[in-house]
Amino acid sequence: MKHWILLLAGPGLVLSCTNNRPTVAAAPEVAAPAVDHMALLSAQGADAVLWQATAAESYRLYQQGYELARIRLAENMRRADKRPAAVIVDIDETVLDNSPYQVNAVRQGRTFDQAEWKVWTDKATAKASPGAVEFLKHAAQQGCEVFYISNRDIRERASTIKNLIDLGFPNADEAHLLLMDGASDKTERRAYVARNYQVVLLVGDQLRDFDERFKDRSVDNGKALVDAMADTLRQYFILLPNAMYGTYRDAIQGKGTDAEKYARMQAWFELNGY
Ligand SMILES: [Mg+2]
Repeated sequence: MKHWILLLAGPGLVLSCTNNRPTVAAAPEVAAPAVDHMALLSAQGADAVLWQATAAESYRLYQQGYELARIRLAENMRRADKRPAAVIVDIDETVLDNSPYQVNAVRQGRTFDQAEWKVWTDKATAKASPGAVEFLKHAAQQGCEVFYISNRDIRERASTIKNLIDLGFPNADEAHLLLMDGASDKTERRAYVARNYQVVLLVGDQLRDFDERFKDRSVDNGKALVDAMADTLRQYFILLPNAMYGTYRDAIQGKGTDAEKYARMQAWFELNGY
C-alpha cells in the first residue's frame, strides 16, 4: 500500500495521500503570533512626530500664530474695560514643546504612558514653542497677566513652574498655573480667571483650549462647530498646530485598549476611502 506524507511550505498544512486519494489532515494548533497593537499605533504616529519635531513648516506655523496673537491682542486691548486684562494659554504644544517625549515614545514603540510622561516633565527641560516667550513677554508689557491652564497633573506643578521660569515666561507661579485636578474640561478654570479679569485672548493647540463644546466631533468631525463659531474664534483664539495627539485622534480611536483603538482607526480608513 502506497502511503506518504507531504509537508508543504508553512507549518500547519499536512497532506497525506493514501491510494492516491489526498485528504487534508487536521492541522496542529499553532498560536498566531500576538499582534503588538501598541507598536502599530506608535509607528503610525511617526510622521506626525517627525513633522512636529523637525518641519520648518511647523516651526513657521508657531511663529505665524504668535504674530497673529500680537495683532489680536492689540485689537482686543482697545476694547478692554476697567478690569485687569488676562491672556490664557495652554501649556503643552502651546508654550512648551514636548516633541522629545513623543520621539522617545515612537523610538520605543510606545503609546502615551502617564509614568513615562512624568519622567519627561520632571526633567523640566522642554524648550519653548517658537514665538511663545516673546509673545507672552509682550502681553505682560501691555499690561496683561498670563494664566497657564493645562491638563498636566497637579503633581507636575513644581517641575512645570521651574521649566517655565527657566525659559523666561512671565507669571510663572502657582497663582497663574491652573492644572488638572480631576477633570480635563477647562471650562471652570477659564471661568475662575474670568471672574476677576477680562480675558482678551486665548492660545492653545486644541480647540477645547477655547471651548469645551469642541470635544464633540460627532458632526463632520467638529468642523461645523468651527464654522458656527468662526467670528469668536477669529477674534479671541489663536490655534497652534499639533498633529501628534489630541481630540481629533481620540474622536476616531476612542477609549480602551490599544487593540480597540487600532481596530477603530482601521475601520475609519475602511469607511472613508474610495
Ligand atoms: Mg496642549
